[in-house]
Amino acid sequence: MPADPSDYYGLLGVSHDAQPDEIKRAYRRLARELHPDANPGDPEAETRFKQVAMAYETLSDAGRRQRYDQFGPEGAAGGGAPGGFGGGGLGDLFDAFFGGNPFGGGPSGPAGPARGADLEVTLDLSFTEAVFGTQAPVTVRTAVPCDDCEATGAAPGTVVETCAECGGAGQVRRVRQSLLGQMVTASPCPRCSGSGSIVASPCPTCRGDGRLVEDRTYTVDIPAGIDNGSTLRLTGRGAVGPRGGPLGDLYVHLRVRPHDRFVRHNYDLAHELHLSVAQGALGAHLAFATLDGDEDLVIPRGTQTGRVFRLRGRGVPHVEGRGRGDLLVQVVVDTPTDLTEEQEEALRHFAELRGDEVGPHDSGLLSKIRSAFK
Ligand code: ZN
Repeated sequence: MPADPSDYYGLLGVSHDAQPDEIKRAYRRLARELHPDANPGDPEAETRFKQVAMAYETLSDAGRRQRYDQFGPEGAAGGGAPGGFGGGGLGDLFDAFFGGNPFGGGPSGPAGPARGADLEVTLDLSFTEAVFGTQAPVTVRTAVPCDDCEATGAAPGTVVETCAECGGAGQVRRVRQSLLGQMVTASPCPRCSGSGSIVASPCPTCRGDGRLVEDRTYTVDIPAGIDNGSTLRLTGRGAVGPRGGPLGDLYVHLRVRPHDRFVRHNYDLAHELHLSVAQGALGAHLAFATLDGDEDLVIPRGTQTGRVFRLRGRGVPHVEGRGRGDLLVQVVVDTPTDLTEEQEEALRHFAELRGDEVGPHDSGLLSKIRSAFK
């Protein structure tokens, strides 16, 4: 009967209080028994092998074992999807035990020049550039193909030779004995460092690397609606690999400057609109500046602090898909603090009409005395 894949102790056939070395022994025994090399074409063995590896990966780490005991497999998953396979840790585990990932399916592709490095650059954008999208140049120091040798790395007039050690494969396969039995491993050819070829007379311009370091400027399309902290990947805009190797990618990290009137919340914009007491009480008809220009904003009579007016579709465009967020205008009714004598008289008259109890008349002298005692 197949074991429950979420029961890591059951998968390894050990008790819940098993000591680390007991878990390790159980794992090694099972790994040897279920290893794909020992069970070619047996998908069930492969599945169990993966499950056992997953269980060992978790239970061999004291911290993860504790989380597993408390929360189960999902609590112990190392960042990836619950029960997910393919986190970084497992690869290390295979390397440690087998010298290579047994699921790699033989040699890792044809030999060839290594891929160029991925590059990173930070691009500063204004708030409106991010909202509406733009095109912006970025300049990066990168590796470009050497023209003199046409990126081969071989001096003009000479040729690149196939490596005699690996016959151009770039890797050497070895059968070796390990604690799990006979293992076939492949490692990069030591003579050509995995490239499969030998440059006898290197190109003097690039010293045999087939590439040169240069500054390059690219124009980046910034999609409308992108937010601060996003990263765009420009495939193939990274460095070229040595001797005509494939291009890496360019990662553009976006830094968006804040707006002086609007705060972005996802795809909505928020603005705090300050109104006078009179505007709140009597209402107002305002020309409100949105990112798309002025818009009529009708403040009804009796508008209180905290009231929100929603201007639909005046927010940020959705970066994937259609439509735009809204612009939310939240009212704050300000109490006046800078009344002139005439305004104060008017307000006192207003209070009298309302029958409101208000403070005494604040002469300049009194307020000076009061602030002296604060
Ligand atoms: Zn060159």
